[in-house]
Amino acid sequence: MSDIRVELTTGPKAKPKDENAIGFGNIYTDHMFVMNYDEERGWHDPRIVPYGDIALAPTAMCLHYGQTVFEGLKAYRGDDDSIYLFRPDKNFERLNLSCRRLCIPLLDEQLCLEGLKKLVEVEKDWVPHVENTSLYIRPFIISTEPHLGVKPSSSYLFIIVMSPSGPYYKSGLKPVDIYVETEYVRAVKGGMGMAKTGGNYAVSLKSQVEAEAAGFSQTLWLDGVERKYIEEVGAMNIFFVMEDEVITPMINGSILSGITRMSVIELLKSEGYKVTERRISIDEISDAYDMGRLKEVFGTGTAAVISPVGVLKWEDKVMAVSDGAIGPVSRHLYEELTAIQWGRKEGFPGWSVKVC
Ligand SMILES: *Cc1c(COP(=O)(O)O)cnc(C)c1O
Repeated sequence: MSDIRVELTTGPKAKPKDENAIGFGNIYTDHMFVMNYDEERGWHDPRIVPYGDIALAPTAMCLHYGQTVFEGLKAYRGDDDSIYLFRPDKNFERLNLSCRRLCIPLLDEQLCLEGLKKLVEVEKDWVPHVENTSLYIRPFIISTEPHLGVKPSSSYLFIIVMSPSGPYYKSGLKPVDIYVETEYVRAVKGGMGMAKTGGNYAVSLKSQVEAEAAGFSQTLWLDGVERKYIEEVGAMNIFFVMEDEVITPMINGSILSGITRMSVIELLKSEGYKVTERRISIDEISDAYDMGRLKEVFGTGTAAVISPVGVLKWEDKVMAVSDGAIGPVSRHLYEELTAIQWGRKEGFPGWSVKVC
């Protein structure tokens, strides 16, 4: 058994009054989980302490060479006022996968999960109450050794912070317009596209800014070599409904293996849908659209759960998917997954984890 030390704040902050207006990533709860790594002790001193600034040397390696990884998940308040997590074990499994790629020492996944549950329990009053709100959870690791040579750091900090967030959809599911990026690329096989790391976001900003300036909400990435095969969208994986088949790009080393993606595949298969993970080119999508075979396109990720795509723009071609409406598969998945996440419905074993 681990010993997670708890030091409670003496000055708790006021909780937000209007939970509909919190937005995303603006306010933080009173406490955070912290653990240190050094070469003599390994990961040590897991603790819950008051939320606050951290001190770093100006030469801390994370500030220069980007040796950082992170995760994102949510805690949900059920109708019975219990607090639930959705497949949190998968997040720590993926965190370790990211650590491996970035030469960061692996974590004890059980200890992380225990620390997270304890933190959520301490902060349970911060989980918002209004429909579709949640407590966003951000575990992350940064390298901290003060050193300017390039090598893996010898010291790290693991931290979990939490941020109450408002409803992603204020008035029900809403389609997003997406722009197929043909100039910039996000990742290549052998790179770090499969890791959840800050660098993958730094490299995406330019495309995101240009997509927004052109009136689109996100970028759809193509593969970095042939610029032909579909990868993923911003911070979401992508699915295509073609006639009665659901197709999504296979995990290939350059896309992030989303937990929502994994859950959508498992759910659809259990319901008898034909789900295929394979390479799929933008030309194939474009042809299917022309032939009227492309029924729905949707993104999957923790933030939006399911994000139906209204318009897909590729070069000069504007594809109005499902005539801008929300397709039945997208709607069904959204309703099913949110019911499980908010504890209203039993998912598969281990999907809905009750914390307190
Ligand atoms: C986090 C993330 C996703 C979605 O993963 P989920 O586990 O479903 O939230 C997809 N793509 C990228 C690049 C991501 O960082």
